[in-house]
Amino acid sequence: MVAPTPRDGNTRLHVSWHSRPATAASIPGMDADERVCPFCGRPPGGGIFCSACGRNLGAVERLPTRSEWQDERQGGIGADAAAGSLAVRCADATAAFLAAMREAGNPGATKMPMSKASALRRAGSAHAWVLRPVDREDFDEPRRYEPGLVLTIDGRFHLLDSELRGWGQRNFPHYHHTVRPNAIDMPVEERLISELATVLSAHRLEGKPPRSGTPTP
Ligand SMILES: [Zn+2]
Repeated sequence: MVAPTPRDGNTRLHVSWHSRPATAASIPGMDADERVCPFCGRPPGGGIFCSACGRNLGAVERLPTRSEWQDERQGGIGADAAAGSLAVRCADATAAFLAAMREAGNPGATKMPMSKASALRRAGSAHAWVLRPVDREDFDEPRRYEPGLVLTIDGRFHLLDSELRGWGQRNFPHYHHTVRPNAIDMPVEERLISELATVLSAHRLEGKPPRSGTPTP
């Protein structure tokens, strides 16, 4: 089932297929327990992008089996179908964005520090584009803080935080940005599509069609 679930003020893709133990598909194309792409229903291959339709599967926690996918297609009506189509459009826009950027050499992607997942682990970094800056108001009421959003060059979404620094210093206010270490599901939101388009157009890549065929691994 593909249904939007409000969480932290965002609506994200929540894919909860009925759990069933994974079975290795020994007969490709014929096995009802074979894992398929949730968007096109075909075997997606082993990469982060579906080898059949090219969509980004990085945000899909668990691939459905062929029989689950078929059940879902038959039951997908009303709100679920509408949410599904937004999810598909967001996935398509993300795949097109990554393909156009990859072809252009990933312009504008920057290395950003990650916040530490724990005191014992070293903080890493993310090579990513900022799709959505942190939305915060520190000085006027009402105060607010809404994390931003980044997309890594390998197609994962992470939340972006900023920390207000520089109290009492000349460069106040200064914001230190960090990327949260754990990837999140692709946000299924209309604004994601325009945010991707805005970053593309900033690098004069708007309107460039995504590369067709099998994406390179
Ligand atoms: Zn697919």
